[in-house]
Amino acid sequence: MSNFYNVSQKTFEYVNKCETQINFSEYDELYEFNQFKVLDSFIKNKVSESSFNSSTGYGYNDLGRDVIESVYKDVFKAEDALVRQQIVSGTHAISLALFALTRPNDSILSVNGLPYDTLHETIGITDSKSSLKSFNVSFDYVDLINNDFNFKEIRNRITNKTKLIMIQRSRGYSERYSLKLVQIKKVIDFIKDINKDIIILVDNCYGEFVNRVEPIELGADIICGSLIKNIGGGLAKSGGYIVGKKMLIDLCAERLTAPGLGKEVGITFNENRNVLQGLYLAPQIVYNSLKIAKLFAKALNKLDIDTIPRFNESFDDIVLSIILKNKELLHKFCSIIQATSPVDSYLKPISTDMPGYDSEVIMAAGCFVSGSSIELSCDAPMREPFLAFMQGGLTYYQGKYALMRIIDELNLLNEIR
Ligand SMILES: *Cc1c(COP(=O)(O)O)cnc(C)c1O
Repeated sequence: MSNFYNVSQKTFEYVNKCETQINFSEYDELYEFNQFKVLDSFIKNKVSESSFNSSTGYGYNDLGRDVIESVYKDVFKAEDALVRQQIVSGTHAISLALFALTRPNDSILSVNGLPYDTLHETIGITDSKSSLKSFNVSFDYVDLINNDFNFKEIRNRITNKTKLIMIQRSRGYSERYSLKLVQIKKVIDFIKDINKDIIILVDNCYGEFVNRVEPIELGADIICGSLIKNIGGGLAKSGGYIVGKKMLIDLCAERLTAPGLGKEVGITFNENRNVLQGLYLAPQIVYNSLKIAKLFAKALNKLDIDTIPRFNESFDDIVLSIILKNKELLHKFCSIIQATSPVDSYLKPISTDMPGYDSEVIMAAGCFVSGSSIELSCDAPMREPFLAFMQGGLTYYQGKYALMRIIDELNLLNEIR
């Protein structure tokens, strides 16, 4: 297959060879397990054609909405769930939970360094007149050491004001590894041992279906995420979720709508079918994403381009950080991801200021759903050491094709490195 859709023979052969050197069976089994889990909760909750209907007005008796929340609850092995179009993003889901679960004079502690960039204004790390800080909710954090929790320091920083502890599973725009579930389990046990009443919140973005269990099963009280990442399966057009203890979900629902109304109201904008079908497909899409990340790591590591994680390390979310070290290379890399996308392939991504981010950000996302990062996408803050954060993939072969074009266009096989 020479000159296969603008890919040189040499690159085509190289990537195919890399592919044969990867054993994907671990992911085959993961996909199977999670597909059974999702299917089981659909059956148990009697998802039916009428679940796809939507309500109007106040949204009393939106049966589909109630079924969705019950399915989510079971998939995550939680007591209750809030899955809403009115939650506009992952940031909103986390912000909503933080505001719902704290009161003036409470304190929040993050145990993996600073949380994700867009939460800085929510918390008040960056000044904002609407922050938690402005309501006299204080914040403290403990950095990771060697990619693990600093248990001693965590014990020191927990005070009688500590109401809630945040754990961010994925790496965000940091250089660290994503947290492994065994690490998360260990820190949850450690915190609960100090004070079992502290609420443990896990930012679950990019983590769904990457393992057989989810953080609630490890003792987390509440977890949050975005429907345009893993769990939406590429079909959900927007939305966020919060799942966890019933008492806490009630508080979040009353913060989202109004005290006294809670979960009883809120229409679903004809999205129930997409949310359900997306969840149904999500284990497969996550599987494709993991395979793409693994293939990129294999092919790039062999060409001396470092990644986090490296090919032979464990993949604990769907993100691959590619250490490009160079601004132009980062730009080019993102441009090729964009150019090999099914939508907006002719556009050139440029870096720009974005709401909630401190440095300029570049985002390549040729997506069916705007900004969706469960579709193959690549984003990066324009700062040292110029890491590209790549994730997603509705189909495995789009990822493989993008990789071939990257190797070709960046001349990686010919360059003496
Ligand atoms: C994506 C992400 C979020 C939320 O981002 P939104 O763009 O607001 O959905 C939060 N935390 C982490 C670690 C993320 O990757």
